[in-house]
Amino acid sequence: MRFNYRIVFIITALVFTLSATLTIINYLTSMETTREQLKNSALPLTIDNIYTEIQKNIIEPNLIASMMAHDTFLIDWLSDEEDDVQQIVRYLETIQNKYQMFTAFLVSDKSGSYYSAKGMLDKIDEKSPNSQWYLDFQKAPELNEINIDYNTNMGSELIMFINHKILNDDYHMIGATGVGLKTSYINDMLKVFRQRYQFSVYFVDVNGKVVIAEQNVQKLNNLSDIPELANQLSDIIGKGSQVFEYTQAGEAFLLNRKYIDELDLYLIVEAKVNNFTQAAEETFYLNILLSAIITLLISFIIVLYVRKIHLKLDKLASHDDLTDLPNRRCFHEELAKLLLLKERNNSKLSLIFIDIDNFKYVNDTKGHDVGDKVLISLAKILNSNVRKSDFVARWGGEEFIILLIDSDINQAQIIAEQLRSQVAQSNQLAQYAQQQVTISLGVTSATEKDNVDTILKRADLALYKAKSAGKNCIVSS
Ligand code: GH3
Ligand code: MG
Ligand code: MG
Repeated sequence: MRFNYRIVFIITALVFTLSATLTIINYLTSMETTREQLKNSALPLTIDNIYTEIQKNIIEPNLIASMMAHDTFLIDWLSDEEDDVQQIVRYLETIQNKYQMFTAFLVSDKSGSYYSAKGMLDKIDEKSPNSQWYLDFQKAPELNEINIDYNTNMGSELIMFINHKILNDDYHMIGATGVGLKTSYINDMLKVFRQRYQFSVYFVDVNGKVVIAEQNVQKLNNLSDIPELANQLSDIIGKGSQVFEYTQAGEAFLLNRKYIDELDLYLIVEAKVNNFTQAAEETFYLNILLSAIITLLISFIIVLYVRKIHLKLDKLASHDDLTDLPNRRCFHEELAKLLLLKERNNSKLSLIFIDIDNFKYVNDTKGHDVGDKVLISLAKILNSNVRKSDFVARWGGEEFIILLIDSDINQAQIIAEQLRSQVAQSNQLAQYAQQQVTISLGVTSATEKDNVDTILKRADLALYKAKSAGKNCIVSS
């Protein structure tokens, strides 16, 4: 019987397919969950956090600017021909220091002067870009506004200005005042969101132009630089909070936006999906690897176990349990094989049929277990008195058969005699049986015409003759 590896292969394939399917389902589910969580929870939450943070940072300066715009000292000072500049400089300096603003300023409509804590800095000039904000503000219907802007008089940094109009008793605009804040806190905030949460956060204006972004990190100038976003730009530049999806250079992105009324800007929070699904992906590969290892291990154990059972079954089917000798079935196969081989190689092959004399008597008088011991002991004597290449088998009951390879009838007779005398002289056998144990032997040699049946029949006949001749002897035929 040959061991069938196909069944192991099928089991291995089934186990692996099952565990791989489960792993893939698990992976797809966790990818989907991560994506959904990002889309429905993490991105909206982040955008709300940033929105709140910005509002918090605007409310206090806005109150200060409002307080300044309503300050009677300022209103009076503007009405009084602006003669004592030092007075206003001190005022602005106090506000700036007390509230830790980047700057505090005052613009007079009448003189067009721009004052800060450093003195009079500038004059409103229709041609100057620094003055543009004031000219726009004058025309605007609102009483206050927030501008994120550069002012060349104050360095190169982006500044958030909170501007309030100053009105006289007749509600006419006589100037503007307010405070300026460095936007670096925004930069710090953007950095935290990028480093801690792996979100890219920036602000764009109504044209999609990136206005505020983390310095040295953001490379995008305009949303429309990304073709997929350019198509959706009209939707992105809208109100409310909404999530958009796009791919760039093979990477999927989710983008959430919220309009910030106070700044007239759109807050954008963007996530590279891969950053969030990476853990799920790593787990997936690890699981697949583990599945493969476990499957191989299971298969290996199955192979070992099945082979062991197989060998056991094989032995059971071909061997005799008591003497551990090959059984009649096995002998038949061996004889058929050797007869074919003999024909091909023109070699010699002999056969000895053996039967214990009066064994029934031993069994009946000394017991069955004594009979078993005799059989075991005899099997050993037979095995140890032939060559390794010869084949000793238990034919059944107390009968044994030996195939002698490359032996003619004369050599077979010599061996048969050896066996007969060894058994007859065996102390161990005599000890077990409490009497001398003898065997009768029928010897024959294979002829060219022989098949399994004819040669066995001849050997059996020879044995029968040996029994008739008085037992404990050899007959050749
Ligand atoms: P003969 O000299 O003519 O061969 O006489 P015999 O008694 O040996 O022959 P017979 O065939 O009458 O008896 C064979 C006996 O072998 C019968 C059975 O009890 C015994 N026998 C067969 N198989 C076993 C076995 O496995 N164990 C034991 N203990 N006895 C067995
Ligand atoms: Mg018999
Ligand atoms: Mg017998």
